[in-house]
Amino acid sequence: MLSQKLLDELNLQIKYELESAHYYVAMQAYFDGIDLPGFAHFFKMQAAEERFHADKFYEYVFEADGKVELTSLDLPGKDFDSPLDVFEKALAHEQFVTKRIYHLMDIAREEKNYATQSMLNWFVDEQLEEENSMRENIAILERVKDNPNGLYMLDRQLAARTFTPEAE
Ligand code: MG
Repeated sequence: MLSQKLLDELNLQIKYELESAHYYVAMQAYFDGIDLPGFAHFFKMQAAEERFHADKFYEYVFEADGKVELTSLDLPGKDFDSPLDVFEKALAHEQFVTKRIYHLMDIAREEKNYATQSMLNWFVDEQLEEENSMRENIAILERVKDNPNGLYMLDRQLAARTFTPEAE
C-alpha cells in the first residue's frame, strides 16, 4: 500500500520523467536544426530512456495498488546557444531529477515502505550513470570548443548510441 503522500509524489515523478523526455526532444530538435545528426540521435535515445523511466514508475504505482494520475507537462526550456550549453543544461536537469529521487527515497524511508525503497534503488544507480554520461560529454566539448573536426568526430561517436530497455 502507498500512502497518499507517496502516491502523489510518485505521480509527480511520472510527470518529471515525461518532462525530461520532452526536454530532450527539444535538444534533439536543436541539433537537427544545426545539422549534427549524431548529437540529435543521442538525445532521441535519451528521450526514449526517459519514457522508459516514466513507464517504470507507472507500472510500479499500479503494482502497489495505487492509481496513476497524469497532469500537463511543462517544457523546461527550448533555447540553446551551443552543443556545450545543451549538455550543461542536460546535466543540471539530471541533477534536479537526482534530488527528486532522493526526496522520494527520504519519504519511503520515513514511512518504512520497503517495496518503494527497493524500486527506487534502481533509480539511484541510474541517476549516477545519467549524470556521468552528461559530464563526460561536457569534458569532451570543453576540449573541442568550436573545432569543426572535433565536433564531427563526437557527432560520429554519439550516432552509435543505442537504447534497449532491460528485460523484465
Ligand atoms: Mg529519468
